[in-house]
Amino acid sequence: MFGCKILFKKGIILRDRLTTRKSDRDKLDIPGVYCILCKNCKNSYIGQTGRAISTRIDEHRRSTRVNSTISSAVKDHALVLNHAIDFDNVTALSYSDSVIDRLLIEAYFIKRRNVFVGNKSSMELLLY
Ligand SMILES: [Zn+2]
Repeated sequence: MFGCKILFKKGIILRDRLTTRKSDRDKLDIPGVYCILCKNCKNSYIGQTGRAISTRIDEHRRSTRVNSTISSAVKDHALVLNHAIDFDNVTALSYSDSVIDRLLIEAYFIKRRNVFVGNKSSMELLLY
């Protein structure tokens, strides 16, 4: 009809935004959402960054030094509870250059996991 073909294209669905190809899981050199685990309890820290995830993880690692003046939920968890943070097994939960995507995905995982006290979503921090 009218000489046009109607084409349907699969849109992006939530599952596409929340999952990561398995082969990408070890890549920490691109922006995304990540999970840092505690070695002593089942809690974790969920964060997001627009830089390389590995750069942000290094900042978290430096924050846990006793003489660090940086405050963070990771530092508080490590120093107040005297728990060891597993910086060697950080997991990338999702990758995205889009800040909106990262904020939504970060908030999604924070709501569904047992996270460190003080681990607030970046979106929540922006709103209040
Ligand atoms: Zn812990």
